[in-house]
Formats: sequence, structure tokens, C-alpha cells
Amino acid sequence: MTDTAQLAANWTAVRQRVDEACRVAGRDPAEVTILPVSKTFGAESVRAAMALGLHRFGENKVQEIRDKAAALAGEAIEWVVIGHLQTNKAKDVARLASEVQSLDRLELAEALHHRLQLEDRRLDVLVQVKTAREETKSGLPAEDLAAFLAQLRAYPSLRVRGLMTLATLSEDAGEVRACFRLLRELRDRCVAQGHELPRLSMGMSGDFPLAIAEGATEIRIGTAIFGSRAQA
Ligand SMILES: *Cc1c(COP(=O)(O)O)cnc(C)c1O
Repeated sequence: MTDTAQLAANWTAVRQRVDEACRVAGRDPAEVTILPVSKTFGAESVRAAMALGLHRFGENKVQEIRDKAAALAGEAIEWVVIGHLQTNKAKDVARLASEVQSLDRLELAEALHHRLQLEDRRLDVLVQVKTAREETKSGLPAEDLAAFLAQLRAYPSLRVRGLMTLATLSEDAGEVRACFRLLRELRDRCVAQGHELPRLSMGMSGDFPLAIAEGATEIRIGTAIFGSRAQA
């Protein structure tokens, strides 16, 4: 359950911190979108956030999107998939999601394209790139990005809009920032090769000022808006 007044206060505080990070970075706050991440919070929390004017929510499990979409049927909500996606979830994603930010392999692109064609829909996608050293982090290896983007041209139901990453989990701000810088540099290189990649989704509750300093156009914020998550 999410307390409505607390949620409103959290949202205002995050927006102010984003504005401040933009000011420090010499950027226009209008360039940075906040994606509220509602994972593990129920439909009532999403409804409370909608009362603040939010209508786009990040989720990392397709089953949660299914449950919340059913509970909130009829509401104009855009569900954004930000977590590792199994190919066998492509059908639900094609039906329910407005966007996937965790596209990281060709097999998944193929499955999504197939299901989207059956639904007669298109989907915005971001390619998730691995910029952290940790073995567990999903994402496409950076050196494969250019070839992957070229291959995605075979799937016109996927509208490639940019790149996404998760930074390394580190106390060292320099190391975290290097992940965000790498994503921006990869984007710049691919744009120079003719790809259209206006969006950079990077930064979460704990590291978003660094991501904004490195050019994030979108930050994915869970804890700082909805509060801490119960241990799964
Ligand atoms: C959970 C999650 C977030 C939000 O994390 P917070 O630290 O709660 O802001 C952002 N991106 C991804 C991919 C996530 O899974």
C-alpha cells in the first residue's frame, strides 16, 4: 500500500532533485523524463500515482503487468518493460506493453516482432547494453551493438528509439558514471553511423544525478517515489 500524501511528497522531491541535477549539468529539465517504476507495488499504488498525473509505469515482470492491467482495466496506462524478458513472454508483451527497454538479443526481437504482427501493433524499444562489469547484469555486449542495430532493421514492428543500461553497483561514483558515459558514447557512435537513437534511459534512485550529468533523457525511479520494496 502506498500513502497518497507520501507519494505526492516523494514525487515532488524527485522532480526537484532532477531539476537541480539538470541545473548543475547545464541541461534543460524538460529534456529528462522520469519513468516511475511500480514493480512489487500493487494496482492501488499505481492508481495513487495516476492521481498525480502519472500514466506510464516501469515493470520488470510480465506477470505483474498482467495482474495490474487487469485490475486497472479501462485506465489509460502505458506499461514499460524494464526487466529481463523471456522469449515465451512475447505474446503478453505484444498485447499489453507500450514499450520494452530491455531488448538485448535477436531471439527476443524475433519473438516480439512475430507476436506484434499477429496483434497488428508496433512497439517502441530501447536496446539494453551491458556497461557494468558484473557477470549477472543482462544486456547486449557493447561491442555487438552496431551489428545488432543493423539486424533490428529486419523487424519493422520494433521502433528502436535508443539505449538503456544499468550501471555497476558501486560506492565509487567515478565507476558508476563511467557506465553512463559509455552508453552515451556508444549512442553517439551509432548515430554517426546513421542510426536514430534519441533516447538514453539510464539512472535509478541511487545514481540518477550522475546519469543526468552524462546525458540521460530518461531515468527509471522506483524507491525514491514508491518507497522501499519488500524483499522478494
Ligand atoms: C527496479 C529497477 C529500477 C528502479 O530502481 P530504484 O533503485 O528503486 O529506483 C530501474 N531500472 C530497472 C531495470 C529496475 O529493475
